[in-house]
Amino acid sequence: MGGYGQTTPPQAVLTMNEHCGPYHLFCEVYGKTDQIEIVDESTLPDQTLLNDSSSISIHGNVIDLVNKKLQSNTRLSQLQYFNYLFPSNIQHTLSFCPTTKHNVILTNNNRIACVNNLKNKSSYAFINTPMKLGDILICKVMDCDTNISSTLLFGFTTCNPTSLQNQTLPEETVALMEQHSSSRWFVDNDITASFSMYDELAFWFDANGRVYLSVNNRSPIQLKTHIVASEMKHLTLYPFFDLYGQITSLYLYSFAAQTNLNFNNQSNAQSLCLICFEHLADTQLLPCQCVLCSQCAAVIKRPSLLSDCPFDRKHITQIRPLP
Ligand SMILES: [Zn+2]
Ligand SMILES: [Zn+2]
Repeated sequence: MGGYGQTTPPQAVLTMNEHCGPYHLFCEVYGKTDQIEIVDESTLPDQTLLNDSSSISIHGNVIDLVNKKLQSNTRLSQLQYFNYLFPSNIQHTLSFCPTTKHNVILTNNNRIACVNNLKNKSSYAFINTPMKLGDILICKVMDCDTNISSTLLFGFTTCNPTSLQNQTLPEETVALMEQHSSSRWFVDNDITASFSMYDELAFWFDANGRVYLSVNNRSPIQLKTHIVASEMKHLTLYPFFDLYGQITSLYLYSFAAQTNLNFNNQSNAQSLCLICFEHLADTQLLPCQCVLCSQCAAVIKRPSLLSDCPFDRKHITQIRPLP
């Protein structure tokens, strides 16, 4: 069955091969599914979710989802792939500009941006601290709908976000750039990469003006935008995002030093739970040693269900937290 967060369409077809009904449908809504809609094929409109990549999947309010995740899993605020860049108790001071946003709700001391209305064409979030050569910007995906094909826009502008304060910003990024054409804009309007929930993103540019992204400390990819190297010295570059695609929430950490990047360091990375794709896999089943999150383990642990491992069907004798 496909669902939110997977690449397959969020639809399932149930087929009966015996006719001694009537049958009553029952389902348990747990893990990553939080809403189920039963669709009668005959009432479907011409254009269904399956054929329209721009339509919105069944999805709750982004800000509510993100707040719920933060409350249920405090470890989410910790970095796992880029944690080696920061000493353990560092204050992450970077934040989104609260007075310059468009279709975005900020939370967690303005460090998390969430799309407000998923049907709008754009959702700008500006950072009011300029980025210098040698800096890396670290952030983390907090909500992601991989049923949408486009990803997100990342760019730099010389337009000081505070000068856009409380203005009504146009719905199209192109129009925004035209409206402020006295400023320079360097954007990649649809980053070509695949993302999933809780991915950590590092953005930076080099002395030649090439802009890079590393996802989860993997080898960097070059973005489609290019800062003119000869001008770079004189430009004050503010990073900004348009969360119009599959990434609908971003957690901002801080700038780190590019010289400390080390793409081989992945040892501390913990994987996502392969049942819900929402929480970190922090629990282990014994004796098979398969891992999943504590929330999904709690469902398995229920006396009526405690039986076999959902991955390999081996009998479970013990469920323990991972060290
Ligand atoms: Zn889980
Ligand atoms: Zn197992």
